[in-house]
Amino acid sequence: MATLNSHYLKLKAGYLFPEIARRVNAYAEANPGAPIIRLGIGDVTEPLPAACRQAMIQAVNDMGERASFKGYGPEQGYTWLREVIAHQDFQSRGCEVNADEIFVSDGSKCDTGNILDIFGDDNTIAVTDPVYPVYVDTNVMAGHTGPANERGEYEGLVYLPITAENGFTAELPSQKVDLIYLCFPNNPTGATATREHLQAWVDYARTHGSVIFFDAAYEAFITDPSLPHSIFEIPGSRECAIEFRSFSKNAGFTGTRCAFTVVPKSLIAKAADGSQVPVWSLWNRRQSTKFNGVSYIIQRGAEAVYSPAGRAEVQALVAFYLENARLIREELTAAGLAVYGGVNAPYVWVKTPHGLSSWDFFDKLLHTCHVVGTPGSGFGAAGEGYFRVSAFNSRENVIEAMARIRSQFSPV
Ligand SMILES: *Cc1c(COP(=O)(O)O)cnc(C)c1O
Repeated sequence: MATLNSHYLKLKAGYLFPEIARRVNAYAEANPGAPIIRLGIGDVTEPLPAACRQAMIQAVNDMGERASFKGYGPEQGYTWLREVIAHQDFQSRGCEVNADEIFVSDGSKCDTGNILDIFGDDNTIAVTDPVYPVYVDTNVMAGHTGPANERGEYEGLVYLPITAENGFTAELPSQKVDLIYLCFPNNPTGATATREHLQAWVDYARTHGSVIFFDAAYEAFITDPSLPHSIFEIPGSRECAIEFRSFSKNAGFTGTRCAFTVVPKSLIAKAADGSQVPVWSLWNRRQSTKFNGVSYIIQRGAEAVYSPAGRAEVQALVAFYLENARLIREELTAAGLAVYGGVNAPYVWVKTPHGLSSWDFFDKLLHTCHVVGTPGSGFGAAGEGYFRVSAFNSRENVIEAMARIRSQFSPV
């Protein structure tokens, strides 16, 4: 009989979102008509910018004419898209990133998983706790861990706690790690990293020959002008970092699918025979072999994100969600809760009151306010005692949800 990749069997059965759905459905069945508001989902709610839709419609028409029809495109993405990304997202901020270091893809979720294809199985891997679960699960699937313990921590991974005590910025590991996942602005905590903090990580990585996987999916939400948008704003990063970007959260492409990964040509890693090889050449080979590029139509939609009209619309979308986040922060604070994040990120990270566990607070909010959030413990053991509230929703829902919470919780 054929055998399986048994590492998959170590995965803690997709616990978080199915368990949320189970509890919400059970409550809704027992209380028909309860007006439940979901502030738990990390998905956008507002429609695609008109500039992107118009560009995609034009691209569909291009596909209908022999002269402008497109078949297979470059696996790495069309040059016109890679050039506008390199110029507007990086060179305009003083980052030395060239168009041929940008690889357009259908999502940074898959890129953060796929990147493991080109690294060795003997690396020591560090993740923050709490963490975006994709980083952990893809390492489990690749056989880079042992089994999970009762706290949900996998043997062999190095967990770096991010809590209120350290300002939600992971401290440098005391041991040597080879691959480090960082996500700023952070999902789920909404925390940001300063230039000094990222410089410390880059210095650590260069000292130890480590590679930083920097997930900047939420960079568009940065409003503080002192905060870096890209790790490539940090000196030395071209020797130690890969950056993941996405059009999902800024331009609402979660259902449209377009993202990109930046692999600097100056990033080197070691082969088994000790020789030093550019990581770029392996990623280029991996993408050319296993990927056939993003649809021409979608890439035209992504290109329009950089047009004057597209930029204005994206800015308005981000401002809309950030105003939701501001309302959530303000109202939860007035209700006596300690809140973090939500200033340069679409997530507000809430300390549960009276020492309630994340799940107890989840049940309490659901039963008393009919509001659904995400238990912090679902993102890692150090998320216990916290709760994520997402700003991705309509203004009406945010206002109504906050009014309900205000009426149930009184300041301490
Ligand atoms: C939403 C999100 C992404 C984007 O994923 P896509 O596959 O591009 O939609 C990446 N990283 C984090 C942490 C996210 O929350």
